[in-house]
Formats: sequence, C-alpha cells, structure tokens
Amino acid sequence: MGNNEFIDRRSVVAAGAGLATSALAGPALAQPGARKIGYAIVGLGSYATRQIMPRFKDTEHCRLTALVSGSPEKAAKLAAEYGVPARSIYNYQNFDRIADNPDVDVVYVILPNSMHMEYTVRAARAGKHVMCEKPMAISVRECEQMIEACRRANRKLMLGYRSRFQAHNIEAIRIARSGELGPLRTITAEHGFNAGDPAQWRLNRPLSGGGSLMDIGVYSLNATRYLTGEEPVEVAAVEHTDRSDPRFRTVEDTINFMLRFPSGVIANCISAYSSAHNRYRVVGSNGWVEVDPATPYSGQQLRVRLRNQTQEREIRETKNQWAGQLDHMAECIRTGAQPIVDGQEGLKDVRIIEAIYRAAREGRTIKLA
Ligand code: NAD
Repeated sequence: MGNNEFIDRRSVVAAGAGLATSALAGPALAQPGARKIGYAIVGLGSYATRQIMPRFKDTEHCRLTALVSGSPEKAAKLAAEYGVPARSIYNYQNFDRIADNPDVDVVYVILPNSMHMEYTVRAARAGKHVMCEKPMAISVRECEQMIEACRRANRKLMLGYRSRFQAHNIEAIRIARSGELGPLRTITAEHGFNAGDPAQWRLNRPLSGGGSLMDIGVYSLNATRYLTGEEPVEVAAVEHTDRSDPRFRTVEDTINFMLRFPSGVIANCISAYSSAHNRYRVVGSNGWVEVDPATPYSGQQLRVRLRNQTQEREIRETKNQWAGQLDHMAECIRTGAQPIVDGQEGLKDVRIIEAIYRAAREGRTIKLA
C-alpha cells in the first residue's frame, strides 16, 4: 500500500432493511394494533429452525402461526417453543388443509430445492401467499409453474433473497449504481464452501437439482444482477469436478462463470463446493466498492476505494436481514406492492443457471435472449 493510501473508518448510518422497503411505508403500516401477518413454515430443517424461526421476534408485522413437518415429534417440540397451537401443525399429507386456517397468510417453503415447486403450487392453491427459498426451483419450467400458480390464485410470490435486506449489500448497491465509481467495468463475485457429508440432499442431484451453483454460486450470480441492476446478455463457464470424490458423484463442485452485461460490465464469478469464498468487488473507472464477507449471516464489511484512498465504512444495521425480508412480504401483502424479489427474480437466476450449465457442458459462450 503506497503512502497516499490509508483506511479511514467512517461511520455511515444506514436504515438497514428499512431502506429496501421505505417506499412502501404508509398509513396502512402505521396503524397501531394492525393484525400481524401469519407465516407457516414448511420444512423444519437447519435454515428454518436456526435462522428463520428465531427472527420472527425481530419483525414488526409478522408472527409464526403454523408448522409443516414430516416429524410429529419435532413439530410438537418447536410448536411448544414458539407458541404455535396443535391445530396449526400439519404434515406433508394433510398440508392442503392449511387452506382452512385463517391464521396463515404466507407459506414459507424451506425444503430441498426439488420440493419448492410442489409446495409453492399447493400453497397457492390453498389461497396462501408464498415465500420460497433460493434457488427458486430446479428448472425454468418449474419456476414458470410456480409463477403461474400464484398468479392464478392472485397471491404474492417472494424469494428468500435475504441479502437484498442486508445493510452492507443495500449500501453497495447504492454506491455501485450512484455513478461515484465512474462507469462500472468489472465485478468479481466469489461464493463457495467445503461441502461435508456425501449423504446430504445438497449432493444428491434429484433433490438439489445441481451442485455448488444451485446452492451457493447463486449468491455470486444474484449479486452481479443486483449490483448492476442489469440482466446479462452472454455467459461462459468452466467446470472442474473430481468425480472420484464421494461428494461429487451426481453434482458439480467448482463451476466458474463470466457474464457480460449490456453496459459493458463483465462479471467473473466463482461457485465452489471444495473451497471457501464469500465476497464481491465492483470496479468502475474511478474506483471500487467491495463487501467482504458479502453474504454470510453476519460480519459483513464494506470498503470503498476512490481517489487513491481506501475507506472502510461502518454501516449500522437497524433491522437484521431476516426481519427485513419477512416484514417486506407483510408490507407487500398489506399495500398490494410487488416484492422486490418476486418470482420473476427467481426465474431470471434459474434461467441463467441453466445457461451456465450449458456453456460449461458445450464449451462455448451462450447468448441470453
Ligand atoms: P436441511 O436439510 O437442514 O432441511 C431440509 C428440511 O426438509 C428438513 O427438515 C427435512 O426433514 C425436510 N425434508 C422433507 N423431505 C425431505 C427429503 N426428501 N429429503 C431431505 N429433506 C427433506 O436444509 P436447509 O439447509 O434448511 O435448506 C432448505 C432450503 O433452504 C434449501 O432450498 C436451501 O437452499 C435453503 N437455504 C437458504 C439459506 C439462505 O441463507 N437463504 C440458507 C440455508 C438454506
């Protein structure tokens, strides 16, 4: 680092998740004592029980009102812990009866990827709004069926893209799109972790739909789209997978991809299941912004480089990313607004994922219409 370079810690106050949704704040939300939006959680696995369910207490407009699980014991234990009545516990067979439960407004699907479509469609048919985890589904065709089911039922469909409600990511989007970095030129986005147990559903293609790209690489892809606000027009990709590794019998390990955007931005992205990565950097003609780590559950850091100075900016979060995500859906239901991460957003990522796989398989760049 040269003499004229330094890191200056400066406090930047951000409204956290509120920034993403402030446009929706209105009288409908201000009413004291307004009925909270009730959520049913489908699939009581790791993400549901460790990240989502404990966050309802941080929300302003949401409450946990029902559980759907294949395990009666697990459901009963969690229901007691969260004050969910026994009548609001369902299993995968009687799930459709949730249609008769007036305490449930939203069904939140937190199941293995290949089950997202079925439970989204069943929830919409039961007259419920749907929040669905990423990736939206394992094919474009399934995503389209989910969008169509929610459209027909006149219900909202939102994806669990929590980073859109995370303060550092919101600030990085603002900086990247503000013009202060000059015209944007490149993005590097890296996401990966060391996949563990070969028996887990993530490493079983029929359940996961694919390897690292479906699970963690989608964060690199989604970031390039939200940072630029553009849709890529061309994609290239290279895969490396050691098929003798018991984890990678049916799914890919590393698949790196390049995206070209209409403005000329080129994104270089890493997606990996055998090495740890979590960061992105957006480089313009005048400087860059990076968030490193970018999309973990906590610990994000944001740095900006302009005029030969690198500055670390402290961002104060007023609402955590999960509370922001859950409240955003509630606000959209109350105001009639479209979620900022709706079904089309999920579909766009899955469409590009299919093109990335094709580019790697065929060893050529693929044009995206
Ligand atoms: P998990 O394995 O911990 O939980 C999966 C749940 O689905 C379990 O309760 C399991 O019993 C249930 N299930 C029902 N049928 C099953 C079947 N046939 N095989 C396996 N499990 C079955 O997984 P997870 O980490 O909670 O992931 C669930 C979803 O959430 C995935 O779509 C994943 O991509 C997503 N996720 C998102 C984030 C995020 O940060 N947004 C983080 C983790 C997971």
